Amino acid sequence: MTQVSTEEMICPHCGESQDNHEPDDMTYYMCQKTCEKCNEMFWYSVTVTREYTTDRGDEA
Ligand SMILES: [Zn+2]
Repeated sequence: MTQVSTEEMICPHCGESQDNHEPDDMTYYMCQKTCEKCNEMFWYSVTVTREYTTDRGDEA
């Protein structure tokens, strides 16, 4: 099994990036998608890293 992690979603069958996919603001463990280019099915997961910086805003 070949796993590739990239910022773009790349089809593991034909290597083409997917033009349309779900918004990246959700984390999926595993999702199924049909390639827009070769119509082969593949699974993907999305990991979203969210970082919070908080500040009370006091001038003191
Ligand atoms: Zn493909």
